[in-house]
Amino acid sequence: MLSVFYEKALPLVFALWLIASLPVSNFAQNKETFWHIETGYKAVDLTKVFERECTEVLVDGNGSDRVEVRFQPNLHVKANEVFRNLRSMLSRTRQMLRPLPVNGIRFYLMQSSDRPQSYGIRLSKNDDLLLLAVIVDPAHEDRNLSDIIYKTAPHEMVHSVVHRYLRDSGTRWFEDGLADYVGRQISDEFTSDEFSNERQISARATLHQSRVRQSILDWHQLRQSDLSKGKAFFQAQTQLYDASQALVGKIVADSERRGMKTPLSLLLSALRDQVAKTGKPVDRDGLLDLIRQHLQVDVKTLGRLDKETQQKMVESAYSMLTLPARNGDSENKFFGTNILANIDEVQLPENWLKYLLRTALDEKAGSYINSMAATALTRRERQIDLKRLIEKASLEDQKLGERTTSTILKELKRLSIDKWLK
Ligand SMILES: [Zn+2]
Repeated sequence: MLSVFYEKALPLVFALWLIASLPVSNFAQNKETFWHIETGYKAVDLTKVFERECTEVLVDGNGSDRVEVRFQPNLHVKANEVFRNLRSMLSRTRQMLRPLPVNGIRFYLMQSSDRPQSYGIRLSKNDDLLLLAVIVDPAHEDRNLSDIIYKTAPHEMVHSVVHRYLRDSGTRWFEDGLADYVGRQISDEFTSDEFSNERQISARATLHQSRVRQSILDWHQLRQSDLSKGKAFFQAQTQLYDASQALVGKIVADSERRGMKTPLSLLLSALRDQVAKTGKPVDRDGLLDLIRQHLQVDVKTLGRLDKETQQKMVESAYSMLTLPARNGDSENKFFGTNILANIDEVQLPENWLKYLLRTALDEKAGSYINSMAATALTRRERQIDLKRLIEKASLEDQKLGERTTSTILKELKRLSIDKWLK
């Protein structure tokens, strides 16, 4: 498993851990590995350090069901907290993924103020426990810990189970969508996310975008070579995570609305039975068939919004963008900009177009917000005269006026995430 941390690409609390599995061929068989990758930093193998430092252990349960936390002796208070949380989270994940069996977890916990940005651990595979390893920086200890426990752990638990039933090609939207859907639900139960409503509206807007909808069905696992791609690539990946999560949520919600009591477990049972019957994992079309057959849902058309909803979403984006930043975070600004980028059939008044232009070029806004503002503008190239807009805005804004129109146009194209979408 590979955990990718796109820290610089995102606003503060929004700094997600994004998780991806590398193709198995990259690793020696019979090894269990976990990598924490921050994009742009070479990964260091810390297996020996983890094994030397983490001499204490807490264990609950037996065999492949157990929860095990290995830690540095000075971290016993933290380790107990992690242990307690992992156990509740594991039982919650098992409940949500019923009837699929969810194996236990082996968690390494260390503390260091000079940890490498990207690191990993690889152990001989003696059992089927999910391996996670984290080094907390004492200066950001709680943040690091709650990220790995509430965001990474449930997400990875889902991967480790569902991956066995799916072929690699064309099913990532479901695997990562489900991992994020389950992960976010659990995270919401264990923490307070003051933006959870805005986050959901924003993800629904992302799913509405036709480029994103076309891209998710062909979304492939991250490859080693992807790690050197620029920010816009990872921002586009983040859009695919959000849309896939919204899609899985929509499949569940739509089925429930039609009276189905436990659509997810119905689907997972069907998936399990299909694999048992054929003896091989399900591919993209097989998965879409299962969903159609058992939940009466056509995934390819799900998630498109009608005109009225689009208009309402754009209005909610305006209010998110006029809210002051809460707790110093600019998440509301990201969500608002993301909605304006993805609901691109709705025409915007000139003051909002100018706002997007200033935001795209504002160095303080954060690079993901810059990109989504630029994307919102370049996606409207057919509706608006972008060149004229820049010229008009440059007359009013001295900072814009310092650059030429063509430089600004080029910069908007460079920032747009669309080169990484279909
Ligand atoms: Zn994932």
